[in-house]
Amino acid sequence: MRLLFATAEVSPIAKTGGLGDVCGSLPKALAKLGHEVAVFMPFHRQAREWFAQSGAPLEPALPTTQIPWANWAAEATYLRSTLPGSDLPLYLVANDHFFDRVQIYAPRADGYDDAIERFAFFCRAVIEGCELLGIAPDILHAHDWHTALLPVYLHSGLRGSGPFRNTRSVFTIHNLNYQGIGRATQFASLGLHSRYWAPDGVEHYGEVNLMKGGIIFADQVTTVSPNYAREIQLPAYGAGLDGVVRSLSFKLTGILNGIDVERWNPADDPDLPSHYDGDRLNGKALCKRALLREAKLRLRPKTPLLCFISRLVDQKGVDLLVPVLGRMLRAGAYAVVLGSGEARYERALAQIGAENEERCRVWIGFDDALSHRIYAGADMLLMPSIYEPCGLNQMYALRYGTLPVVRLTGGLVDTVVPFDGTNEEEADGFGFSATGSEELYTAAWLGMLNYRDSRVWRRLQRNAMAADFSWDRSAGEYELVYRHEV
Ligand code: ADP
Repeated sequence: MRLLFATAEVSPIAKTGGLGDVCGSLPKALAKLGHEVAVFMPFHRQAREWFAQSGAPLEPALPTTQIPWANWAAEATYLRSTLPGSDLPLYLVANDHFFDRVQIYAPRADGYDDAIERFAFFCRAVIEGCELLGIAPDILHAHDWHTALLPVYLHSGLRGSGPFRNTRSVFTIHNLNYQGIGRATQFASLGLHSRYWAPDGVEHYGEVNLMKGGIIFADQVTTVSPNYAREIQLPAYGAGLDGVVRSLSFKLTGILNGIDVERWNPADDPDLPSHYDGDRLNGKALCKRALLREAKLRLRPKTPLLCFISRLVDQKGVDLLVPVLGRMLRAGAYAVVLGSGEARYERALAQIGAENEERCRVWIGFDDALSHRIYAGADMLLMPSIYEPCGLNQMYALRYGTLPVVRLTGGLVDTVVPFDGTNEEEADGFGFSATGSEELYTAAWLGMLNYRDSRVWRRLQRNAMAADFSWDRSAGEYELVYRHEV
């Protein structure tokens, strides 16, 4: 099949989280199954910097093109490269006014949030690009609200145009809480017929809601774990769209994300000071030693090293962690934290680090190589997410023999088997359900207690490292969705 991915992020070119990881990896796994895949993404400033630094080839794909749309027009310049680590075509849509920003999702320099317009422009540029480049996809696979307009455009008449005659759309929800909400007056800039301004269109309680449009008009909808597919049909997790999701659940499938098992492999990860696998864990002890040195923490045998690597936003449960992290340290743990995000969380965690210099190191920032060294060197990963569509951190941790302590929500339920004292044969982490600091503390404490029993710990580590999170498994499930066989 000919597949077209349209996405705001592609790892390692420009990413803020899981969306980028998925769109950097899944196309390659689908290509292995014999599909033709092309990817479109915006030429963000991060992308410009990545190409400048990596020296990867980048060439003009088309002359600069004026894209007239609805009541406005803008210029797109199309660049061509290949998806890193593959020979799959990658097209980057450049327009400095829209995409040359400090951060991928930053508003305009004057503070105006033009997110709706710039991603409407991107979707329109994808369509125009396909027409000019002669790309006629069987499947147009859109990801999250940024490209949710593509299924809407397809529904609104695009199927009448040459390359899209036989195109069906698949829309993947990576995070339902970011919906692409705009004011009613912005509807005109989308270039849709007025019949789409309705509760069964892109209108949601008087506002523009692009996520809603993607869900309603895509032929198939997927989300990134089976459990999240169930949860988003409930008011508690539906972020106001649970009714829409429920009514269309017949076309919803939950497919667990995979991870790039080549990039994330403790046996030959170039970012690690020492290598190991499930049968030979000595290298992990050396990684821990090196990490403690890097964190300026004194080596003490038998001390469990906890870690937390995350965007610092309320979704990730920082509010649960902050009140009890100090107590975990006093109870005998070390901790390393790597994160960036909301200033109040950065401050609170930095303060805990400053008050516990002997036992805790807090790095504020985003550092991919350091994250690898932490996954390898730590004993446990704390992941008290309030909600978690899939979550990648816990899968990286499991692969590196670092046992996750998770709140049992979303994809964490599908990926971690909590140890309850009786299921040593299959358990690979620790879990809790209620959204409370005390529950997190108790689960982490259970982990710390079990850490003392090296036989049990080894067993759980081996279970963790044996789990299969490769994309090959998930790609097969996407194939069924593309073929309309689920
Ligand atoms: P989300 O996409 O919601 O942020 P995921 O668990 O799906 O959460 O993906 C998070 C990804 O971002 C992982 O690859 C994780 O290692 C990485 N990450 C998060 N924060 C940092 C950070 N401060 N430095 C390096 N990597 C980070």
